[in-house]
Amino acid sequence: MSETLFKKIINREISADIIYEDDLSIVIKDIHPQAPTHLLIIPKKVIPKLSDSSIEDQEVLGHLMLVAGKVAEQLSLDNTFRIVINNGAKAGQSVFHLHLHLLSGRSLNWPPG
Ligand code: 5GP
Repeated sequence: MSETLFKKIINREISADIIYEDDLSIVIKDIHPQAPTHLLIIPKKVIPKLSDSSIEDQEVLGHLMLVAGKVAEQLSLDNTFRIVINNGAKAGQSVFHLHLHLLSGRSLNWPPG
């Protein structure tokens, strides 16, 4: 399997605006932001999409949620943000390396499009 775009960013083969990193995850700014704050929270383990994850991924999946909260607090987002996971091409997924979108800084409508 060829390396995913996000794996290349993790390996510093492609540059990105990295705002947080730890043993299990990395957080970067989205290159095409859909809100004033648009981050991607990415596991270092390559899981193509959420529905490919299994019980052995429980720790990393929970970790991503905790990182989202931590980064939101560090950026003073006023406890106001949305987390989105696009699962599958028909749901809008374009990079097949699991990632959480964190969106903040504007009104976010419901239901989403
Ligand atoms: P998806 O559509 O898979 O849910 O989200 C993929 C996201 O990755 C998109 O929001 C897209 O703008 C972002 N993206 C695509 N290529 C790059 C890149 O090279 N660098 C960064 N930082 N984000 C990217």
